[in-house]
Amino acid sequence: MKKILRSFNLLIREEGGAVAILVAASMVVLFGFSALVMDMGVAYKETGKMQTALDSAALAGVRELPANDTGSAAWQSAVDEAEHYALANGLSAVTCDAVYNDDASKIVGIRVNGTRDVNYTFARILGLNQVAVNRLATAELETADSAIGCVPLCATDQTMNSVLANPTQIIAIKVGSASDDEFFTESGWFGALALLNPGGNVYRENLSIGYRGTLTYGQVLNMQTGVITGPTSQGYSERIIGHTACTYENHEPDCPRVVVVPIVQILPKKQVEIIGFASFFVIEYTEEGGHSVLNSKYIPGTITTGSHSDGSATDYGVYISRLTE
Ligand SMILES: [Zn+2]
Repeated sequence: MKKILRSFNLLIREEGGAVAILVAASMVVLFGFSALVMDMGVAYKETGKMQTALDSAALAGVRELPANDTGSAAWQSAVDEAEHYALANGLSAVTCDAVYNDDASKIVGIRVNGTRDVNYTFARILGLNQVAVNRLATAELETADSAIGCVPLCATDQTMNSVLANPTQIIAIKVGSASDDEFFTESGWFGALALLNPGGNVYRENLSIGYRGTLTYGQVLNMQTGVITGPTSQGYSERIIGHTACTYENHEPDCPRVVVVPIVQILPKKQVEIIGFASFFVIEYTEEGGHSVLNSKYIPGTITTGSHSDGSATDYGVYISRLTE
């Protein structure tokens, strides 16, 4: 009998020990996984913050583009801006790569790569100290197919060809109506548009604050037909209030001296059809032979509020920016 009891006690002890070991082992696994899950949650949140920082860095950098190559001042500005935004959002080490357009003739985008070591807190019991998190963001310029806030002027593709042949010159934008024959023949003439209706007040307001509607590739517009010197002069004066000191070399991207105009092909019956958009910095208003003249400089890259659908529009330097990855 004593022998049986001793054996039973032994069994109880041994089984109890086995259960205790099993429970202890399970708890280590359970706590280990819980620790890893909690730390992965922290790491996941960190990568989210990191992605936001990289997205804003890429969008800030792309504003400085396009650039000819990675040796250009424009590309350096893009990298500087991206690094500045990354740093402001707590990312110290980022690398920037150029994204070229289809024929590799210019840089139209910036890819920003970031790495950060996220320290584990709980998973240290499993011997895991940190994890390196990698993320990237790419922002690219796309030729604007439509634009909001255009001024009621337009230029032909022939005019743009002569502007682009010497883009750093000061261009005398001579504002004319469809009744000015010179508009159709000479470079530097910009036709006045009748957006909404042909009234002088509507034209002046569109010049002053920009057309509120959207202008789109392929859209047919009516030209102004009457005398428009007065409304051009008034609209210009209203537009540049508070921006008299801004210069081509030193202005904010949203300075009202920056104007976006549709580039058009002339149709019969005093109408035009939009084929793209270009942007200018208006330096001053003068008058010459009874016509309004806006002395301006071409801007090779402007980001507008608009859209890019199928890329039908000709690239005259007005873009929308978009995160592409
Ligand atoms: Zn300004």
